[in-house]
Amino acid sequence: MLQDKDRIFQNLYGYGDWSLKGAKKRGAWDNTKGLLEKGKDWIIAEMKASGLRGRGGAGFPTGLKWSFMPKPDPNRPSYLVVNADESEPGTCKDREILRNDPHLLVEGCLVAGFAMGASAAYIYVRGEFIWERERLQAAVDEAYAANLIGQKNIHNYPFEIIVHHGAGAYICGEETALLESLEGKKGMPRLKPPFPANMGLYGCPTTVNNVESIAVAPTILRRGAAWFSSFGAKNNSGTKLFSISGHVNTPCNVEEAMSIPFRELIEKHAGGVRGGWDNLLAVIPGGSSVRCVPAAQIIDTPMDFDSLSALKSGLGTAAVIVMDKSTDIVRAIARLSMFYKHESCGQCTPCREGTGWMARIMQRMVEGRAQKSEIDLLFDVSKQIEGHTICALGDAAAWPIQGLINHFRPVIEARIDSYTARADKDAAQVAA
Ligand code: NAD
Ligand code: SF4
Repeated sequence: MLQDKDRIFQNLYGYGDWSLKGAKKRGAWDNTKGLLEKGKDWIIAEMKASGLRGRGGAGFPTGLKWSFMPKPDPNRPSYLVVNADESEPGTCKDREILRNDPHLLVEGCLVAGFAMGASAAYIYVRGEFIWERERLQAAVDEAYAANLIGQKNIHNYPFEIIVHHGAGAYICGEETALLESLEGKKGMPRLKPPFPANMGLYGCPTTVNNVESIAVAPTILRRGAAWFSSFGAKNNSGTKLFSISGHVNTPCNVEEAMSIPFRELIEKHAGGVRGGWDNLLAVIPGGSSVRCVPAAQIIDTPMDFDSLSALKSGLGTAAVIVMDKSTDIVRAIARLSMFYKHESCGQCTPCREGTGWMARIMQRMVEGRAQKSEIDLLFDVSKQIEGHTICALGDAAAWPIQGLINHFRPVIEARIDSYTARADKDAAQVAA
């Protein structure tokens, strides 16, 4: 169980002062120069030892990612890009960092940028985050005014930070679509490889990291990799922000130790499931892009990457969407299908055509206006999309449907039976 003193985000709820003065009181910008003086290799080794895995959803090891950046080349600058395009349904954790503790991110940019030899950080903020962007810009301005960043600064490492406001497209959260958008083009994902570390922003070496991943870095370096990795389980270490929503008594964002069991997370921070544990139907544990898990399987599961992958779901962004027995689970998943259809950029056929097809058939499943054989057809089509697209949006559209069919096929079948019985009755009445 995480104690208050172990929380990196001491102002998550905005009760304190977000500004430089308040952030410094909480320990930010404390001897940052000393951290940089320990050198790039030390920072990257410490980040690797901490076990931090990317907090944007994919869980790729952060220290390893930083180590992919090539040595600085005066003819080819390197960049850090921070993905603040938080748009995954259910996810609202980076929003709180931008609003309430922006200096953790600003300091994290300098430290991470230094470690990877970057000359600048671009922070790409979600289009709908208006005052989050204003707050972040104000923190960046404070950092410039205090000579913490800029061409000449007290850290002797020239470093610029540019805040860029997105235009409100979910796909621009995909790292290469984000880079396209930053370059002023339409936000369409690029094929990988090459990965951004080789060919990123303006064709230069780039690392794209999530807000939370960068914001935790200075504290990890100050308190030590051993401290951070003492929380959680092997390969799933550290503390983590969870966004808990849906049918709980007190929805919230909270920083907890990784691997906390689901029941403990919900009891301790969200006031339990509405109507009690017997009323729990299912959970989407990692934002809308993962498969749902039925109640019996998740209750005692540690909330981490590996444990949830073992259930064929995922920790993703740690946006925990709780659904009680009042939920129309077929309609809930159909709504997600509509979302992915709407957000597909349309450049690859399986996603462009498949998301539309799946959304339409899901709508018929909601109404029961389908054949039972179409359930298998729907599953097969989702398998054709999975792994056959340029970016992860195709998988994200397929997985919720697969989770529904794997765990709730009888609910879909009952819907079809009920519609068929009604239709037969109507037909009999018309005939009479
Ligand atoms: P990914 O696994 O393709 O990549 C993860 C990161 O590791 C990327 O930065 C990638 O460049 C890097 N990487 C992976 N393999 C590499 C290699 N061999 N060499 C160099 N770098 C390598 O996943 P992704 O498509 O970036 O992200 C998918 C995840 O995004 C999903 O799991 C979902 O949970 C999450 N997501 C989050 C949001 C949000 O709002 N935070 C929105 C949508 C999706
Ligand atoms: Fe675009 Fe979908 Fe292809 Fe991603 S998977 S590139 S969103 S069409």
